Amino acid sequence: MELSENRLQRRLDKLSEFTLPGRPWTRRAFTDLYASARDWLRQEMEAAGLETRIDAGGNLIGALAGAEPGLGVLAGGSHIDTVVDGGRYDGILGVVTALEAVQAIVESGEKPRHTLEVIDFLSEEPSDYGVSCIGSRAMSGNLPADLLEYTNPAGERLGDAIRRAGGTPGKLNGALRGDAELAGFLELHIEQGRVLESTETQIGVVTNIVGIRRYEIVVTGRADHSGTTPMNLRQDALVGASRIVERVNAQAKACQSSNKYLVATVGKISIRPDAANAVPGEARITVEVRSDDQQRLDSFLKPIIDWAQETVCQQDQLRIEVHPLSASQPTDCAGPIIDTLADSAAALGLSSMKMPSGAGHDAAHIARLCPTGMLFVPCLDGRSHCPEEDITMQDAINGARVFTRALLSLDCMSPQDAMQAK
Ligand SMILES: [Zn+2]
Repeated sequence: MELSENRLQRRLDKLSEFTLPGRPWTRRAFTDLYASARDWLRQEMEAAGLETRIDAGGNLIGALAGAEPGLGVLAGGSHIDTVVDGGRYDGILGVVTALEAVQAIVESGEKPRHTLEVIDFLSEEPSDYGVSCIGSRAMSGNLPADLLEYTNPAGERLGDAIRRAGGTPGKLNGALRGDAELAGFLELHIEQGRVLESTETQIGVVTNIVGIRRYEIVVTGRADHSGTTPMNLRQDALVGASRIVERVNAQAKACQSSNKYLVATVGKISIRPDAANAVPGEARITVEVRSDDQQRLDSFLKPIIDWAQETVCQQDQLRIEVHPLSASQPTDCAGPIIDTLADSAAALGLSSMKMPSGAGHDAAHIARLCPTGMLFVPCLDGRSHCPEEDITMQDAINGARVFTRALLSLDCMSPQDAMQAK
């Protein structure tokens, strides 16, 4: 199967040109610029011989009919929206790779057994409507009606924005694909971290996508004048919150093990009165925990809160409240697809390693529908969601070759059958 490096490069160059002038790289979902980029992508899909449509969730899909329609659809893709001032390759590399793979199959003259689809999922990044992974949530039946009522700062409902993107919000009350309609899904993505680069590994084979827990902790003390309140009479909420921040970090470090992934972060803090001459009376911090292990996710915070109640609260006369903000479960990639990706890399003479994904992706939602796998290619210095995000064309081509080889293997073996045999 011959891939065209030039075509892959040209499409990456062209797609990334759809960016706000002077703001590399900014292509926010639901904007006119995004619509123009999608229109270009649709034309590229059609020129490659694919039949295009937009589904009820606003996902752009290019399909190549297979020889055995009863086998279901093998799909690949990612997203083309970016965060503000984001990176050049996040998302688009996965879409362009899937298109290149399917186009190379068209050009080979071989008819695949499965119908193949290239999917550009609507709005993967956190959107102005407060929801991320909108298209993949919609496809997998995880975009409940209350989320469609969320509005952007201009007051537009998410449901209306999906309609503007070509979707049909009235049809989003369940999964858009039937039980066995999808036979498998593959997403290629830049790693967005430093593991592959630092170990000089060419391909990352994702074993699972982390689950995420977010909490807000409110520490309450007493606001006082900073000049007149002696140190021994203070109830300083920020001092208490700081001790919790330190504890979160220390416990996450202590949880590191070779076969489980766990990271925890306090990334947001606000205090009141928030003045140079005031003892803080209230501090609010968010604690985010990510792990590929459900039990570790569930049990991370409790010992910290227990410790804080016994020590911080007693010593500094503070009160603590914990509010859960959000919870998503870890998602396992499908064993046969993990094996197929690792075998494909080995057959091409490329080094690979199995690793969890610490970032969320569309694949985590599509895994509810069908056997799903992901592969990572290295990115420079692990930088992502910033203009410094970069990759080498060689890494992009390596990834595209592994992706294409794995897609062809899955077309031969039928991943659903392989799952059942396992
Ligand atoms: Zn992405």
